[in-house]
Amino acid sequence: MAETGVCLQDIYKARRTIAGQVRHTPLVSSPALSKIAGTNVRLKLETMQETGSFKLRGATNALAGLSPEERAQGVVGVSTGNHGRGVAHAAKALGVKAILCMSELVPQVKVDGIRALGAEARIIGRSQDEAQVEADRLVAEEGMVFVSPFDDPRVIAGQGTIGLELLEDLPDIDTVLVPLSGGGLISGIALALKTASPGIRVIGICMDRGAAMVESLAAGKPVEVEELPTLADSLGGGIGMDNRYTLEMVGRLVDDTVLLSEEQIAAGMAHAFHQERLVVEGGGSVGIGALIAGLAPNLGDKVAVVVSGRNVDTKRLAEIVGAG
Ligand SMILES: *Cc1c(COP(=O)(O)O)cnc(C)c1O
Repeated sequence: MAETGVCLQDIYKARRTIAGQVRHTPLVSSPALSKIAGTNVRLKLETMQETGSFKLRGATNALAGLSPEERAQGVVGVSTGNHGRGVAHAAKALGVKAILCMSELVPQVKVDGIRALGAEARIIGRSQDEAQVEADRLVAEEGMVFVSPFDDPRVIAGQGTIGLELLEDLPDIDTVLVPLSGGGLISGIALALKTASPGIRVIGICMDRGAAMVESLAAGKPVEVEELPTLADSLGGGIGMDNRYTLEMVGRLVDDTVLLSEEQIAAGMAHAFHQERLVVEGGGSVGIGALIAGLAPNLGDKVAVVVSGRNVDTKRLAEIVGAG
């Protein structure tokens, strides 16, 4: 693929487009993690977005780019929950109808968050792939516009605004740790950082239960993985068998990937709660988990960890942090 479809200019344009609806989130130092990792660690708190995750950035940028005709048709998404909430939020702000198709694996707190914003949440099947079938039907039969959670240039550019904020708040950044599923988040961030300086290291963190991107990178083409229940529910699902952007971008821009066990993810959530006093969902805590497990080497002197979301069922959280 010669053309990636996303460049630094798109990220700057996205920033202008989403300003006012999306927060420039804080980058806070973590003395506890700095001690554990033996370097200077900061946390990029995307948990502070109004919808509780960074997905608001890409969804807001994608919906802003729709034509009046497309807006009139309404939008449909497939989501592990956080993209859906971002789409619902952006759709509400624009007065656009939104339907989100999700599997039974999506936690209730995320379904409730989507419905509270006035969007329709349809629960279909046991996997993202099954939910995708319903979304495809809505596009084909009702003319709704599909908004991908990751494989869309506008979504990638929106997530890339995190990279601009990191460069502003920590210009001498050496390494960033980024949760990785479909790869929209890490592609956007890596594009911004690598364009600024190719020496900045970008490391993707996945759960070892169905790490679709890592397997696809190894195979050189999209690979289907079985979707299993995991603490990092927001990292579940495949990269799409017709992946157009993120597989190529991750292959080109990401230096390394790390896989975490369920115990290591839980340790990240427990650390966030007890030491940082932060509520972080499983998918959002994998960077912290990787540092605690000592799985991210060659960090350099200045490290940022993207803490990507906070939308966890409180009962679930209590079980995990109670044990930690
Ligand atoms: C979606 C999501 C991710 C992964 O983002 P991708 O763009 O799919 O790689 C990470 N953390 C949270 C909380 C998410 O909702």
